[in-house]
Order: sequence, then C-alpha cells, then structure tokens
Amino acid sequence: MTPRLRLQPEALGMGMTSQRVRDRLIERLRGNGISDERVLNAIRTVPRHLFIDEALATRAYEDTALPIGHGQTISQPWVVARMTEALFADGAQPARVLEVGTGSGYQAAILGALGLQVYTVERIGDLLRVARKRFRSLGLNVRSKHDDGRVGWPEEAPFDGILVTAGAPALVDALTAQLAPGGVLVAPVGAAGAQSLLRLRKDADGHVVQDTLAAVAFVPLLSGLVD
Ligand code: SAH
Repeated sequence: MTPRLRLQPEALGMGMTSQRVRDRLIERLRGNGISDERVLNAIRTVPRHLFIDEALATRAYEDTALPIGHGQTISQPWVVARMTEALFADGAQPARVLEVGTGSGYQAAILGALGLQVYTVERIGDLLRVARKRFRSLGLNVRSKHDDGRVGWPEEAPFDGILVTAGAPALVDALTAQLAPGGVLVAPVGAAGAQSLLRLRKDADGHVVQDTLAAVAFVPLLSGLVD
C-alpha cells in the first residue's frame, strides 16, 4: 500500500523546521546506526514539528524527547527509528501493527507513512483527541481507541508487530499473546527511567526469542483511563 500522506507546502515548514534541518536529523540517525532506508525516509517525510506544541517547534528536529503535556513526552527520533526498524528486521514484512501509548501520534504516523495498518491505544483522552486531529489532517489511516493498552486490542489481534511506547517493570503477557507467528514485539522493560528496549520475535511454532536493542528511558505504562 502506498502511504497516503498529503503534505501541504506550509506543513513542510520554514527555518528551524526546513527540509535542510530535517535532513541533518536523518544524517545523525544514520550516524547512530539506523540503516533501514524506508524508516529514514518516513522520518524525513513526516513533519515532527506538527506533533508538538508550536512553542517547541524549533526543537522538533533535534534528536531528543520533548514534553507534550500531561507529564508525557514525544519519543526521541532515534528511539522511534530503532523501534520501527526492529519491526522490519530479518526480512519481516509486517502489515498490521499495534502501538500502545499514542501520545502525540508521531510514532503511529511514522508507521502509517510506511503503509502499515496501524492500531494505537492511549489512556489519556486529551492526548488522543489531539493525535486524531493530526492523523486526519495528514491523511493518515490510523485506527485508535481510548483504553488501557495493557489489554492490547483483542478484537483486532493478532498483530504482525506491537510497539509499546511506555515502560513497565515486566513484559505484558496479554500483549505477547496478541502477536502473530513471525511477529515482533518491541517494549521498554525495567525500572522507571532505566529500561532495556526488548525485542521479542514469535516464531512459527509460537516460540519466543528475545534480545535487547538499547538502554532507554520511557515514561511509565500506567493503568486506568484519564479524560
Ligand atoms: N508513542 C508516543 C510516545 C508517547 S509517551 C509518541 O510518539 O508521541 C507514552 C504514552 O503512553 C503516553 O501518552 C501515555 O499516556 C501512554 N500510556 C501510558 N500507559 C498507557 C496504557 N496503559 N495504555 C495506553 N497508553 C498508555
């Protein structure tokens, strides 16, 4: 499927959000080990400055996490790139992907721009409403719901990929269970602020192979819904 990204000229940005500034981010990601051209291209294409407050727009193409309100953050571009790349590792051809923790909507938009069918779950209603507006205005086909993502999305399972974008002390079994054979789950696991980014691959017999991608610091995976 071809990504349906409608980019208005004004969305391409000026000055600190210009194409030149974005290309610099791509070179930095490349220098830090991101090599999947599809992923780099999605990051080059999706305007990250539209996923944060205007007051922070000048920092949109720095390789750093930024606040998005409600004590939450938009993930660092390198982390978004690494997690996305992990879905395509070893020749995997994912089609349907679940994200837990919509936040700004940026990670979901990257997945959508790659032509994946994206399902995303967010527990904070305010964040989800804003993210949905962004999906609409960019013409991205992302399905979302306001829920506790620790239960996954059973009605739509199994998924070829699951990205958990908030940290928990342990892997969530309900999510691993929603992974299709051959599917990949990527999740930050460990103590608050000092997690390991784990990748799990379920083979055709349902056996799970696990490895560690990086040390990361995500906001916590929490229970319960907030309006
Ligand atoms: N992927 C996001 C990162 C947002 S930070 C982005 O690209 O911007 C993590 C997000 O996970 C926060 O918005 C937080 O509210 C959400 N979150 C935390 N626990 C959750 C849960 N149990 N279910 C769904 N979302 C959750």
